[in-house]
Amino acid sequence: MRGKLLIVMGPPGAGKGTQAQRVAERLGLAHVATGDLFREAMVRQTKLGRQAEPYVKRGEYVPDQITLGLVCERLRQPDARAGVILDGFPRTLEQARGLDALLAEMGAAVDRVVYLDVPEEELMGRLTGRWTCRNCQAVYHVLYNPPKQPGVCDACGGELYQRPDDTPEVVRRRLEVYSQQTAPLVDRYRASGVLVRVAGDGSPDEVTRAVLDVLEAGQRAKE
Ligand code: ADP
Ligand code: AMP
Repeated sequence: MRGKLLIVMGPPGAGKGTQAQRVAERLGLAHVATGDLFREAMVRQTKLGRQAEPYVKRGEYVPDQITLGLVCERLRQPDARAGVILDGFPRTLEQARGLDALLAEMGAAVDRVVYLDVPEEELMGRLTGRWTCRNCQAVYHVLYNPPKQPGVCDACGGELYQRPDDTPEVVRRRLEVYSQQTAPLVDRYRASGVLVRVAGDGSPDEVTRAVLDVLEAGQRAKE
């Protein structure tokens, strides 16, 4: 891998997908979102999709070996050579260790982890108001980021839908699983010196500016 390996972390609804898509475009990186990859496999009913489905429906994590296999395959695709922004991965300690091993094999390492910090009380409203494009996975919000025409994606004209795991009940489970299994990773990346915290509760444009600023500052510090 020639380019950077960035990670966007944060609880469900923090804005990982929104920001990762913008940063990927801006910096010319491949946007790799494990949630999107699982949903696509579920629509196509591939073996991976059938394996992932019961976990995704319950708001629980797909087993590490399956998830690591998926990411390993994705990072070996030609477009990943220019650099990658990982969104929603790693989510467990085992996945973080697996990623380090995989990157070491490829002669790469994690460059930066952007942790989007959003007050917990905001997350439920963000997720239950989220609308996602079936075609290009762009995300909207009924109040905070509405599409120009209800139900239609501004970017590609695709149909917008509400994810079945964005119901209050499943969101509660996802937040619980996040705090048990993923929140400890923030400390791990902080200890290794790659973590930068960005306040994720401004407007989407403000958050993008802040993310790009910290990434550029990190780049300058290395030069
Ligand atoms: P994640 O990928 O972390 O689960 P998303 O990027 O899908 O989060 O965002 C979750 C919801 O919150 C979406 O409906 C999105 O439009 C909305 N959203 C994202 N960023 C912001 C923000 N800064 N302020 C308000 N709403 C936001
Ligand atoms: P997301 O689109 O990131 O909200 O992810 C949706 C769902 O996909 C999660 O609730 C999990 O069921 C599954 N998933 C996504 N990424 C991972 C991961 N890194 N490890 C395990 N399960 C994942």
